[in-house]
Formats: sequence, C-alpha cells, structure tokens
Amino acid sequence: MACRELCGACCIAPSIARPYYGMPEGKAAGQRCVHLDARQRCELFGDPRRPEFCARFIAEPDVCGENREQALAILADLEVFTLPPARVVEQLAGVSG
Ligand code: SF4
Ligand code: SF4
Repeated sequence: MACRELCGACCIAPSIARPYYGMPEGKAAGQRCVHLDARQRCELFGDPRRPEFCARFIAEPDVCGENREQALAILADLEVFTLPPARVVEQLAGVSG
C-alpha cells in the first residue's frame, strides 16, 4: 500500500532503541520523533542519518490499518508484543524506561 498522507503513526508509536541523529537516546514508544514535520512527513527522508529501522519500515495494511488512529493502536500493540518479557511486565505495570 502507499503510505498515507498526514499519518506519521510509525514515527510515534514504535520505539527506536538505538541513538540516532537528533535523538541521542533513541525514541521511546509513543514519543514523537523530532524529525516528523507538521505534515507528518520525515525531514530525514533520503538522508543517510535516517535510522535503518525507518528505512526498513514499509507501509502494510496489517500494520497501518485503515486510518491513523488504527495505525497508532496497532503499532502500540506490536510494540508490546515485540518487547522482551521483562519489558512487557514493566509496560503492563505502567513503569516507563
Ligand atoms: S503508519 Fe503506515 S501509513 Fe502511517 S505513516 Fe507509517 S507507513 Fe505511512
Ligand atoms: S527519522 Fe523520519 S522516518 Fe524515522 S521516526 Fe523520525 S520522522 Fe519517522
């Protein structure tokens, strides 16, 4: 599928564990990336400083849903499903970090 205009859910919901340009501690789940502009577009698109995670992310209906709200919810769920078990327990307990 084509990436949706004015979405940007994949630049907010997932965490990015590794440090990258502009975000020296990486990005926490639910945190808006500093490179996401007002039109929900990546300011680093085509820039080698863009994280590999982002370059590999491909718009898919299973992940992007039918609208931005669905994408945020699906990606938030996937974030929990891909965490190590100890982090899942922390997330469920509401412990950030
Ligand atoms: S969640 Fe999907 S539709 Fe939304 S910006 Fe990311 S790739 Fe595009
Ligand atoms: S670097 Fe670009 S693609 Fe990656 S999370 Fe930030 S805004 Fe999104």
